Parts: sequence; structure tokens; C-alpha cells
Amino acid sequence: MPAKYQLFINGKWVEALSGKTFESINPGTGEVNALVSEAGALDVDLAVKAARKAFESGPWAEMAPSDRGRLLYRAAQKMWEKADFLAEIESNDNGLPINETKFIAMPATIDVLEFYAGLANKVQGETLASPANRLNYTLKEPLGVIGAIVPWNFPLMLAMWKIAPALAAGNTIVIKPAEQTPISILELAKLFQEVGIPDGVINVVPGYGSIAGDALVSHSGVDKIAFTGSTRTGRLIMQSASKNLKPVSLELGGKSPNIIFDDANLENAVNMSTFGIYFAQGQVCAAGSRLFVQESIYDRFMDLFVKKVQGIQVGNPLEATTQLGPQVSEQQLKTIEKYVDAGLEEGANLVTGGKRFMEAGNGYYYTPTIFEHVTNEMTIAQEEIFGPVVSVIQFKDEADALSKANDTIYGLASGVWTNDLKRAHRMARGLKAGTVWVNTYSMLDSAAPFGGTKQSGFGRELGVQAMDLYTQTKHVWVDLNETALNWYGG
Ligand code: NAD
Repeated sequence: MPAKYQLFINGKWVEALSGKTFESINPGTGEVNALVSEAGALDVDLAVKAARKAFESGPWAEMAPSDRGRLLYRAAQKMWEKADFLAEIESNDNGLPINETKFIAMPATIDVLEFYAGLANKVQGETLASPANRLNYTLKEPLGVIGAIVPWNFPLMLAMWKIAPALAAGNTIVIKPAEQTPISILELAKLFQEVGIPDGVINVVPGYGSIAGDALVSHSGVDKIAFTGSTRTGRLIMQSASKNLKPVSLELGGKSPNIIFDDANLENAVNMSTFGIYFAQGQVCAAGSRLFVQESIYDRFMDLFVKKVQGIQVGNPLEATTQLGPQVSEQQLKTIEKYVDAGLEEGANLVTGGKRFMEAGNGYYYTPTIFEHVTNEMTIAQEEIFGPVVSVIQFKDEADALSKANDTIYGLASGVWTNDLKRAHRMARGLKAGTVWVNTYSMLDSAAPFGGTKQSGFGRELGVQAMDLYTQTKHVWVDLNETALNWYGG
């Protein structure tokens, strides 16, 4: 029997007003994981009203910042206690191998919560330089009700990137999880309630993007939208938010270059380039999906890389030996197939993979795939595939690498492998991306801001910087002498 989940609004579990539900599918088996209430516009409206009430009055509005931080720490503690349970839920819902949810995604998610719990009482305004007859200062205030919309690749982690700084700053939040993966975020709401986060502070409205998502974006009671997802949806969200001039932060897609120079430590470069593209089945916004290899080491690199990739264990995400689980959905598999066909038609050479993996049962499995002889004009070098497919491109020298790497509409992340210190810094400066990894790939730190340039979006999540996304500055001018200016005389 599949589990049942309802909407979480104002601290209560409620059916959708329409009575509708949708199925959350386990991508490892193709079976129904859970039946989930499907929020419509009216449910979203109730959630926004509950969040508004909790923001304007009641315990959350009056709580000292230190107490807010303490509650968030308590939630983090509870998450550590339930980390294995949450990891399993996530793997069942989105297909991430259990080792990746247990040892990477879950600890990273809780670390983010702890980081912002610690910042709750460090939100500060400034005293401005003013003459003796007045006092000018600024207050850093929460924005109000935050609408958060997240994708399915790291549901809990990407929700936490928004929930933790938003709540630390004193906002309240309404979250619309991806329709493929609502469960872990609903479990998180339960856990937040257990530690005493007041009713209405966190509300979860699972449902479809064009219905619940759009209702949240266009709602006049929402003060800001924090979105992670595709560039295509990002555009729709900006349009919709423009109706009532809501600020938005957008973490969008990528086609990130990972560049291997001939003086790099080859073994490390091979290992981390493999992780850089195949981690989470390639469903990572920052995936190193364009692998640039210097001509002089091309054959040596490819020899090692292909062997490594062919050794990846594909299988059931709950098995500890699995290194690559299923894609999130049948639809995602079809998208990958479409891109593989395009690669073949446009003349790229398929080195390995390029087909579904049938041995693991009825789930949505795909074999790790490498294309070589890819040129920058090809579709597979320009469009985000969001699957375990890498395009290998050769380059001559630093200038060639830089111009090819930057020749994309995206600018999320990038990697450089070299032992030449000066070259590493020159490349770090030249790459048009929000993150540059030098001699590593796909590393995140709660303290390090993450986000995109160009059509990968704007705004920086994580780090102290993310507090700027959830606060606004108010200026206070106090006349100390009350020498009111009599401009009009009389
Ligand atoms: P998506 O854009 O299809 O969906 C993301 C979310 O938006 C879902 O919750 C969906 O229901 C909602 N949505 C869809 N249409 C909407 C609309 N009209 N109005 C409001 N909400 C709407 O993306 P996806 O396929 O779920 O996720 C994959 C994409 O996310 C990839 O492009 C990936 O690069 C990107 N991503 C980016 C980051 C980052 O930090 N930059 C991180 C992870 C994923």
C-alpha cells in the first residue's frame, strides 16, 4: 500500500480543497511510492494567508532572533537523529543512490540548517555617519512571506537552501516541492513542527508547477519568490512575478565546463571528472557535462576515463553497492534518449553507454554515456541534458579552452585541472561562471555562495550572502534637535 500525504498548512495536515491527489513514483521500481494531496490555487491562497498571519503576529513575529536560531538548531539536531530515515525516503522518491543521500546530500542539508541557525542573531543594520543633530541608521528586516519552488534532483537540500536563511531572518515560507518528489519536504515540515516551529511559519503545498507553482508566484500576498529549476521555467516565473513586481532569485540550469590541462594530476582529474558528471545520475545543475581535454593528453586521459566510467555500478538506489541509480522519471529518460540521438545524428562518436540499462528491473535506468569528437556547435554541447551523458571536447591551449568553455548561454559552474598556479588563477578570472573549482569538482560548502551568471540565473544561495535574499534594508532618520525646517515660512 502506498503511503498517503496531505498538504501542510498552518500547522495542520489537510486534504486539498478539490480532493485531488497525485502519485509520487519510485523511479527505482516504477511503482507508486505515495498518494499526495494536490494543491490548487485555493490551497495556495490558504497557505499564503497562514504564512502572512504567522509573520505579522504570534510567537514567530515576537521571537528573539537567538530563540529563532535555537529552534532551528533543534530542528537540525532532530534531522541528525532521523538522517537515515530521511535519506531512504529521498532515495525512494528520486532515485539517488543511498550512499549519496546518506553520506553527501543529508549531511550537507543539515549543515546548511546549522549554518543559518547560527546567523539568526547576527542580522545587523548599520549606524551611518551623520551630523551631530541627527542619527541615521539602518535596520535589516525580513521580507515577509517567501514562496519557494524547488526541483526534484535534491529536494530536501535545495528546499533547505531557502528555508534555513529565510527562517533565520524571520520570514515565513510556503514551499512548492517538485511533483515528482514531495515526500521528504513534507516529512521535514513534520519534524519542524515537532521541535516547536510555530504554526504557519512553514507550509508545504505539493502540486504541479503550472497550477500550484504559478498560483504561488502570482499571489499578491507573497513578498518574494526563491526558485530553483530549469531556465525555461525561470523565464515563466519572472514574467508571472512581474505582475506585482515581486523580487525573484533564480537558480537555473547549466552546461558547465570541466577543463583538464596536460600538467594536471591525471588520476585525480579522471576520478573527479567522473564524479562531476555521474554524481546523482548527471541530474546536477552544476554537472561537468562538457569535458574539455587538452590535445596533448587526450588519449591517455580517455583511456583511464572510459575504463572508470565502464566500471560504474548501475542499480537499485537502496543497495549500498550502487553508484548510479535510476533517472527520476520515464520522461527524463526520453529526454536523454532524444539528446543521444541528436549527438549521433550530428556526428559525435558514442564511446560507451547510449542506451537504457535493463538489468536493474522496471525503473528508469540509463547507462553512463560518453560522447567524444564533440564540437561546440552540437546540440549535446549546448543544451542541458540533465542525465549521465558527457560531451568530450579537445582543446589546444589556455585561450582555446577559455573561449570554448565560455561559449554557452549558461554560467553556473566550472572546473580547472592544472598544477600551474598562475594558470589556475588566470582561468578562474576568465571563466564566466558563478563557481570555479580548481583541482576538484562539485564541492559545496554552506559558507560558500552558490549561483549563476548569464542564463543560469541570479542571486547567490548559501553563505552569508544568501541572507541578502531574505532581508531588506530600512533607513531610519532621527532628528535629535527637532529643528524643523520651515521651508515655506510664515
Ligand atoms: P522545472 O523547472 O521543470 O521544475 C522546477 C520546479 O518548478 C518544480 O517544482 C515545478 O513544479 C515548478 N514549475 C514548473 N512550471 C512552473 C510554473 N509555470 N510556475 C511555477 N512553478 C513551476 O525543473 P526540473 O526539471 O524539476 O529540475 C531540473 C532543472 O533544475 C535543471 O534545469 C537544473 O539545472 C535546475 N537546477 C538548478 C539548480 C541550481 O542551483 N542552479 C539546482 C538544481 C537544479
